[in-house]
Amino acid sequence: MRVIHWFRRDLRVHDNPALQRACRIGDEVIGLVVLHPSTIDRTKQLPRRLRFLLLQIEALKDSLARIGGRLVLRYGLPEHAVPNVVQEWGAKWVTWNEDIEHTDSDRDERIRQSLSAMGCYSGIEQDQYLVPLSVLKASRKEPIQTFEVFYKVWRTHLSEASSSSGEPAPEPLKAGRTISPKSDPFPISTQFHVASDKALPPPGEQPAIRRLERWIEILATPPSPQPAEKRVSPSAAVSSGISPYLRFGVLSIRQCMDAARPLLNQRAREMTRTAAELWVARLARREYYNYLFFHFPRVMQEPFNIELSTIRWETNQAHLTAWKEGKTGYPIVDAAMRQMAIEGYAPQWAREIAAHFYIKDLMLDWRQGMNIFYSLMLDADMANNVGNWQRVASFTPDADPFWRVPNPARFSREMDPSGEYIRRYVPELVRLPKEYVHEPWTLPHRGQTALRFFVGQDYPVPIVSHDQRREEIIRRYRTASHSE
Ligand SMILES: Cc1cc2nc3c(=O)[nH]c(=O)nc-3n(C[C@H](O)[C@H](O)[C@H](O)COP(=O)(O)OP(=O)(O)OC[C@H]3O[C@@H](n4cnc5c(N)ncnc54)[C@H](O)[C@@H]3O)c2cc1C
Repeated sequence: MRVIHWFRRDLRVHDNPALQRACRIGDEVIGLVVLHPSTIDRTKQLPRRLRFLLLQIEALKDSLARIGGRLVLRYGLPEHAVPNVVQEWGAKWVTWNEDIEHTDSDRDERIRQSLSAMGCYSGIEQDQYLVPLSVLKASRKEPIQTFEVFYKVWRTHLSEASSSSGEPAPEPLKAGRTISPKSDPFPISTQFHVASDKALPPPGEQPAIRRLERWIEILATPPSPQPAEKRVSPSAAVSSGISPYLRFGVLSIRQCMDAARPLLNQRAREMTRTAAELWVARLARREYYNYLFFHFPRVMQEPFNIELSTIRWETNQAHLTAWKEGKTGYPIVDAAMRQMAIEGYAPQWAREIAAHFYIKDLMLDWRQGMNIFYSLMLDADMANNVGNWQRVASFTPDADPFWRVPNPARFSREMDPSGEYIRRYVPELVRLPKEYVHEPWTLPHRGQTALRFFVGQDYPVPIVSHDQRREEIIRRYRTASHSE
């Protein structure tokens, strides 16, 4: 029997529940990817993300070919493309993994019904979460709101449903042997001329797994505590860099958990265990924001804490452009924004300070900032993006109180004590000693002359005064919270 597996956010053959189901049911499995016109339109303005996606699809095609399968690519609305492919190939089953992100929540159900009307079965599996949303939903009458409670409940369910199969999709995936490759009307390489790109994480499952393994090695050997001055730049040390792979399902979340599990063992060193626990909590946070997004989809448009929806935001094109281009005069913010523009990635703490500055210092509308992040990131994901923006804006129950407004220069000294991160992304500041690299405007005129570096000429004067803006934003939040 011929079965179609529809790849969505699961661009891998390893540990792929719906693909494995397809292989159990069928003796011929054909992989299908449907490029939605809105994805292409959206990503056309974001060439890096589109390239990353297409390179992953190419790599998937190769992975499938290695186990005797083939991949078919279609461009169009899935409502039309999936039934068309079923008809074309005479398939009796279609399998896919669930995805809560796409905005039309009934779409998959409509596709299931039209397949059923054609006499074709659908096999749908859960893939994206360590603890499926349905399990969490069943455990509570009312949705959980705080991360603290979520994490406790999530941990209690973790052991039941979180191991990867560890195996590639089993053979037989015979379609590649029985159908001429010439019949594929949509070869990726000729349609898109995708070239490899060194600025992107290397495509494919093996590089993703290697990145995860390297990270686990780092976690397993935490450095002995260092004075701040000697710390390795956090940009290099504090996170795994796997998020773009997780976003497109090149790596499964169960593979991540399985890799971390031995480090949580009682026999592991205490520092290792603590580091691994913290990392698992980050994996949980990803599921928490998906859970919130699922239960409260209104958060795309309005604050989770609805009281704060009356905050007055500013419209200031010059500030918006300066922020987006990394020219605010606050080096840590500028470095973060430039890293995102160059690499489509920034570690958590860098995104955090850039978003804080946008909301609390520039007082611009958080929804616009959120969309800009979405357009820049390789790992852009609605639930995680909106959840984090809501938290930074002090809207969600897990957020810091609104009056805690981080001072960018202090934050910078804490996270990048030597200034290495700043100098990497803001080359104008490369000659500045570490005493001034966080606040170039404090460099006395004599020093500027000696370095032939002039604030206002070689690097912007801060576009706002943090101290003044801090007072103003706190006042606005207070007014909004009392206005109900
Ligand atoms: C304003 C803002 C917007 C963000 N937008 C996104 C987004 O669109 N997509 C996205 O995947 N992450 C987003 N994050 C969360 C976080 O910054 C990234 O997941 C993380 O930096 C990815 O790097 P990593 O894989 O090295 O993370 P690691 O620290 O190694 O963590 C491993 C994985 O855990 C998950 N994770 C870690 N921290 C968070 C978090 N705070 N929230 C949700 N998941 C987390 C991610 O899947 C990540 O890949 C955002 C954070 C902020 C502050």
